[in-house]
Amino acid sequence: MIDVGGTLWPNSWPFRQTDAAGRHERVAAAMPQLGAAAIGSLVADLIESSRIGDHARAISTETPPTIPAAEILIGASLERQGLPADVNVVNRIRRAMAIPVADRMKPLPGAIELLAEIRALGLRTIIASNTYWRDAESYWDDFRLLGMAAHIDAIVTSVDAGHLKPHPAVFEMAIRVAGCPAQRCVVIGNREENDVEPALALGMRTILVYPDDPKPASSRAHAVVPDLWECARALKAMLHDG
Ligand SMILES: [Mg+2]
Repeated sequence: MIDVGGTLWPNSWPFRQTDAAGRHERVAAAMPQLGAAAIGSLVADLIESSRIGDHARAISTETPPTIPAAEILIGASLERQGLPADVNVVNRIRRAMAIPVADRMKPLPGAIELLAEIRALGLRTIIASNTYWRDAESYWDDFRLLGMAAHIDAIVTSVDAGHLKPHPAVFEMAIRVAGCPAQRCVVIGNREENDVEPALALGMRTILVYPDDPKPASSRAHAVVPDLWECARALKAMLHDG
């Protein structure tokens, strides 16, 4: 099970002036029955009400959200526009707001090699990630564009699980998807609190990586490695030792 921000790709991504236009286009495509004026005021409201959270994620994707969950924020926005907020509409808008990231950053060095090595070791890769707008379906689009999708078996996000890590829901869902006991799972991530601690509590093994962070002062992880090539070696050694 692998974390994404600070593990497979950088901790943060830059915002672009074109993001608003991109979201406008994507929401318009998701809501073809709405006229241009209605789309304009809905998107303006969505962008304004989520601005604090988006800025926080430009500094760190690990930053705890200071705004309500995406579904609640979108529901409130639709209500202010006098539009019905049924669950399908909310999900369509949430995916539209998850602008693709593949054009603004690359996977961290060794990320694709790590995923390929996991496959070569006969293991499966399940993404276990905290997100705001993104669910598994949005993430698949990102990973396809970044050339990583072929190495990934399943994706579980906090949007899908209904709670942010360190809540155990993301890992519990990932264990169900893996279909094997927690003792046979290894969690790879860059945060002691979000990745290592909840994984240990569920009886999983852990590798703390810091390809985009300072060296941690201490960790309870089974292995602590500076980059993703070392991570692949640590994983191999872990399998070898049983
Ligand atoms: Mg992370």
